[in-house]
Amino acid sequence: MEIVCLDLEGVLVPEIWVNFAELTGIDELRATTRDVPDYDELMQFRLRILDEHGLGINDIEKVIDDLRPLEGAQTFLADLRQRYQLVILSDTFYEFAKPLMRQLDWPTLFCHRLEVGEKGRIVDYKLRMQDHKRKAVEAFRSLNFQTVAAGDSYNDTAMLGEADTGILFCPPQNVIDEFPQFPVTRSYDELRSAIDNAFAK
Ligand SMILES: [Mg+2]
Repeated sequence: MEIVCLDLEGVLVPEIWVNFAELTGIDELRATTRDVPDYDELMQFRLRILDEHGLGINDIEKVIDDLRPLEGAQTFLADLRQRYQLVILSDTFYEFAKPLMRQLDWPTLFCHRLEVGEKGRIVDYKLRMQDHKRKAVEAFRSLNFQTVAAGDSYNDTAMLGEADTGILFCPPQNVIDEFPQFPVTRSYDELRSAIDNAFAK
């Protein structure tokens, strides 16, 4: 039995926070896990900036409604799901991801939740669990799935290492340099070939 575990942002959809920063003109919100490897540090920083600017969940949802998956993502995913089981493992939040999941035909998504308070103010975030990408892959392997995982960033490298085969997709140079053990793919055709080859082993 075969299962593919994919990261979401940077693999199937654009970076949500980067796009939000562009629309609002708040440059500090451009930071991603590519820049700050410590996820909690990054999220606390983002929540503080949102609060300082008085921005809540409704403002964020308006931006995300205008986002589209990366070019070719829908076809890549639809074809992949005809052949393999698929789960998206993401450090985003269900509240953010929903408009994009609709456009991707509702694939299975494991991610986190936001805690929204009065007037849409985001008061906190709730991680379902720490290190959930790696633990999901570990659990799938314990269920006798052969696993291939692909992602673009620091927060994917633990799941890539846990999977039978880990593949980088359009990663920044610093991730390539720090994790030379993972093959690099730069298009959906390359990624699909790498996935097929991994399962054919
Ligand atoms: Mg990513």
